[in-house]
Amino acid sequence: MVCKIDSWFRLDTTAISDSPSPSTHSVLSMRIALFGDIHANLEALEAVLQDASEQGVTDYVCMGDIVGYNADPSDCLEIVRAMDAPTVKGNHDNDAAGSHSLDNMNLIAAAALVWTRKHLSEEQRTWLQRLRMVRQVSNFTVVHSTLDQPANWNYVTNRFDAMANFSFQFTPLCFHGHTHVPRVYVKKDKIEELAPESIIIDPNAKYFVNVGSVGQPRDGDWRACYAIYDFTHSMLVFRRIEYDIKKTQAKIIAAGLPKMLAERIQEGR
Ligand code: ZN
Repeated sequence: MVCKIDSWFRLDTTAISDSPSPSTHSVLSMRIALFGDIHANLEALEAVLQDASEQGVTDYVCMGDIVGYNADPSDCLEIVRAMDAPTVKGNHDNDAAGSHSLDNMNLIAAAALVWTRKHLSEEQRTWLQRLRMVRQVSNFTVVHSTLDQPANWNYVTNRFDAMANFSFQFTPLCFHGHTHVPRVYVKKDKIEELAPESIIIDPNAKYFVNVGSVGQPRDGDWRACYAIYDFTHSMLVFRRIEYDIKKTQAKIIAAGLPKMLAERIQEGR
């Protein structure tokens, strides 16, 4: 299902199409699913992967925050790990992997992380700890928050925040997550924000794209969010996928996690 595309990346997409690929599919038909902020929501993750398969996705790249907030950290981690897809570390992955104080965090996120630490094995936490902060894959870069200071976990909510990232972006595209809100910033003569819909990639522009959240969207839409980058048609498509949210909510309550976490996924906030 998955090939390791970052093992043969080229900055020039023309070169990619001429280079031998270790995968069975043609490079020209590459469709890459970009997904992240899963946050231990197994039902949402499974629904997204099912949809990606139906959409003819050939490769997968994960923006991090596999765990935290919801009730299936171990299962979600094992699914992502088994995919052997390029994956970057999110702040919740980092906090779940460590044993440092969570005093600076809001109480609900901290309570979920204390719970998550207990529900991952030492070996799983080590795997999370070893994830890289930034990866370059094909003609794009992947980071959980921003390229300028990836370990500071800055939030990008406007064009000015995006500007700092663009200064450190040396690939035509950069995909990230962290705010749980799908957003597209494009830099040509100036930086503009585009609606997260179907986008034709302009070869003369740079793109900084938030692919939204699989497991805890915060744009008012409860459905799982991810994006597909279609190499062949130089297109980016955002997908919203329904899943069995009642099951996810029941698991949150049964696990003894804060009830508010079950409520917020319904409201998409
Ligand atoms: Zn997150």
